[in-house]
Amino acid sequence: MNKIVLVTGGSRGIGAATSRLLGLQGYWVCVNYRQDRASAEKVVTDIEAQGGRALAVQADVAIEEQVKSMFDVITKTFGSVTHLVNNAGILFTQSRLSDISVERFNQVLQTNVIGCFLCCKEALKSMPESGAIVNVSSAASRTGAPNEYIDYAASKGAMDSLTKGLSMELAAQGIRVNGVRPGFIDTEMHKDGGEPNRVKRLASKIPLQRGGTPEEVAQSIAWLLSDEASFVTGSFIDIAGGV
Ligand code: NAP
Repeated sequence: MNKIVLVTGGSRGIGAATSRLLGLQGYWVCVNYRQDRASAEKVVTDIEAQGGRALAVQADVAIEEQVKSMFDVITKTFGSVTHLVNNAGILFTQSRLSDISVERFNQVLQTNVIGCFLCCKEALKSMPESGAIVNVSSAASRTGAPNEYIDYAASKGAMDSLTKGLSMELAAQGIRVNGVRPGFIDTEMHKDGGEPNRVKRLASKIPLQRGGTPEEVAQSIAWLLSDEASFVTGSFIDIAGGV
């Protein structure tokens, strides 16, 4: 059976590195994006150039109809999703809680938590017994991200609970659900937080004295998806240089 993986937010950063690695490992990769089609197509071209198979598929994971349409496109083109990486996530400008609006908090929850929930729900309609899900949480779920983005940290805490609960619901079926909690990874996300050089600024406070790369996160995601992790479910790998 072909292994068909959907990587949400697979067009840039950690999702793009994960898509490329999984493509090399023989997965047929569905590279989801919200708006940046060119970046998604570039990831697809890279995977195809390595001899793999890939498909760029647009959907805002926060919107149920778009998630359903995305799965329809994938099923018609490649077949049922066997593996899922819930990676799409957003944050906004560093602020204290008093400066975070209800609208912003809702937007963060809708993408990071409901998006993950919707993709799990759709994927599970036809995921085989050998299937696996990896949710990309954050070190922020442990630190709480004070003075930066408590809303984002809370969304990642909710994702961790969802990961744990779903892993128990699906364990008897043989479907594994795990999480990774990256921190201080060099991607464009920090620009959205208002500080593109955040990782560089904080490097000396990280025990390993540097930020991480998207490829380092991709390795853990790929391992959790693989049969090498066949007895691992409801677990989390912290990938944050010791934080
Ligand atoms: P990034 O470079 O900003 O990339 C975000 C990706 O998510 C893009 O492909 C983007 O697509 C997609 N996306 C955003 N909102 C979406 C939506 N509603 N629907 C579908 N796709 C959407 O981010 P990153 O740093 O790689 O982060 C990836 C994941 O790792 C996130 O969940 C983040 O919370 C987590 N993480 C990152 C760090 C870090 O230090 N970078 C640390 C901890 C956790 P478009 O470009 O088309 O919008």
